[in-house]
Amino acid sequence: MKKRCEALAKLLRQSERVVFFGGAGVSTESGIKDYRSKDGLYNTVKEYGVRPETILSRSFFLENPEMFYDFYYKYFLSETPAPNPAHIALAKLEQMGKLTAVITQNIDGLHQAAGNTNVLELHGTISTYHCVRCRKPYPKEDVEALHGGVPRCPHCGGLIHPDVVLYEEGLNGATVDAAIDALTMADLLIIGGTSLAVYPAAGFLRFFGGEHIVLINRDETPYDDRAELIFREKIGQVLKAAVELM
Ligand code: ZN
Repeated sequence: MKKRCEALAKLLRQSERVVFFGGAGVSTESGIKDYRSKDGLYNTVKEYGVRPETILSRSFFLENPEMFYDFYYKYFLSETPAPNPAHIALAKLEQMGKLTAVITQNIDGLHQAAGNTNVLELHGTISTYHCVRCRKPYPKEDVEALHGGVPRCPHCGGLIHPDVVLYEEGLNGATVDAAIDALTMADLLIIGGTSLAVYPAAGFLRFFGGEHIVLINRDETPYDDRAELIFREKIGQVLKAAVELM
């Protein structure tokens, strides 16, 4: 791994507009539960009688908000995770003027907690909420202060929706545009913690305009043959080592 980390450090030294594209693997290194994992799927079906993707859909949210929030609190708000070495290394790369954007499928806000400022959250965030009826925004603290149950808008009584993109909902157009811009301008793309098998991850990569792709993922991906360097090790371990070698 040392040789490959040195090669990554060299690529980072040579590059000026690095983009990191991250998936669930980045968050699981902080101990965050992945509802898409085998255990997550098994436990959800056992407890709720439906798959997590069903619970996390717009129609289910509107029709069964009690069950939705029960699942949501359990999977997304029960822990207060901290940034791991991957988040910290990426924040350092931004401070060094190398990293232009983090594009993430995660919703936990850990990149911002580590210090990254340009974080493009394709699937939204657990940090804020809005009312589905009057659109009024609410911070996480207001909703957490209710201590469970279905949060209702104090203004209009409407259902409060987390700013997470649910299944059956479209991605935020401005976020998508910013992600495409960052990829188009990038000279080095580092992909971490995603199998690139599901929408929208794979679709974005065709916008990458640079030459160098580095892949950090435990399992094989359909993009392995396009990558200049491949790591199967932990993302935090790889990025930390590479940044130290720069
Ligand atoms: Zn409202």
